[in-house]
Amino acid sequence: MIVVLKPDITKKQFDYIINRVKKLGLKPHISKGTERTIIGLIGPEDVLRITPLEVFPGVEKVMPVLAPYKLVSREFQTKNTVVKLSQKLKIGDKKIAVIAGPCAIENYDILYEIAKKIKEAGATILRGGAFKPRTSPYSFQGLGEEGLKYLKQVGESLNMSTVTEVMDTRDVGLVSRYSDMLQIGARNMQNFNLLKEVGQTKKPILLKRGLSSTIKELLMSAEYILSSGNFNVILCERGIRTFEDATRNTLDISAVPIIKKLSHLPVIVDPSHASGKWELISPLSKAAVAVGCDGLLIEVHTKPEEAFSDGNQSLIPNRFKELIKELKPIAKATKREI
Ligand code: PEP
Ligand code: MN
Repeated sequence: MIVVLKPDITKKQFDYIINRVKKLGLKPHISKGTERTIIGLIGPEDVLRITPLEVFPGVEKVMPVLAPYKLVSREFQTKNTVVKLSQKLKIGDKKIAVIAGPCAIENYDILYEIAKKIKEAGATILRGGAFKPRTSPYSFQGLGEEGLKYLKQVGESLNMSTVTEVMDTRDVGLVSRYSDMLQIGARNMQNFNLLKEVGQTKKPILLKRGLSSTIKELLMSAEYILSSGNFNVILCERGIRTFEDATRNTLDISAVPIIKKLSHLPVIVDPSHASGKWELISPLSKAAVAVGCDGLLIEVHTKPEEAFSDGNQSLIPNRFKELIKELKPIAKATKREI
């Protein structure tokens, strides 16, 4: 339920409403817009039948959130969510976030070399998988905790934030100790226990769209995280399965403006997993910035031909650097920065 307040509400009236809803067992989520403030109510709404909030001074109207996802919806919160990774680094504000790094963490030296180069090119967040969701059980599965240690060490020595995937509820605590942001991979988008588990942390969560998931299903998955108490969620369009086989997946570029309309959460695009081809990373990144993405996630490797995984969809650092330069005028044209 959302409570729309009158523009001329007094502080006393506002405080009274907040206290009353709390006493009713509801949690208020205050969203201050440019013109008016709305309060989203979280909890058992049945109590509002006995205490109709419409009669309170300062309340303009009380409306149900019609979408099946509630906390995630634009109706619930009109203002864009800005997720804070560190004091300086935010996702969802004017500056488009650049997340880059290898598909998998292979060893300390390679990770450091890649990180140094992507940082010079303008990336602020280092990615790298330590737990890899591989189609084949015989493929490299990741270095596990050893890889997490490298990620943390490299991130700290270069002053970069970090993100890495967590695949199992049992590893949420472990991965949280090493990484600034937790990634839920496409294959786990509907692992509801995992979503609830990461929802109980305070960490920013990068939630990737499932291979064959609709936008509505992605938003419902995000709702699991928010309803568990964690509002720091970033959504990621990473391509979906279609009949087209010229690319690994089909980048659903329209998902970006659609999600931005339906939800207040930041949306980033991963052109690497979307296309499976390094040649397509540049044009798809440009398209993503043009349609208003809040960030990009790009796989970069110093020696893609030797990468343990996803070498064919990884840019070499020089091309990555070139791309970031080419994105600047597009970002500017959409009133953003990169
Ligand atoms: C990844 O980002 O490392 C990854 C495995 O991506 P996805 O879950 O989108 O396939
Ligand atoms: Mn990969």
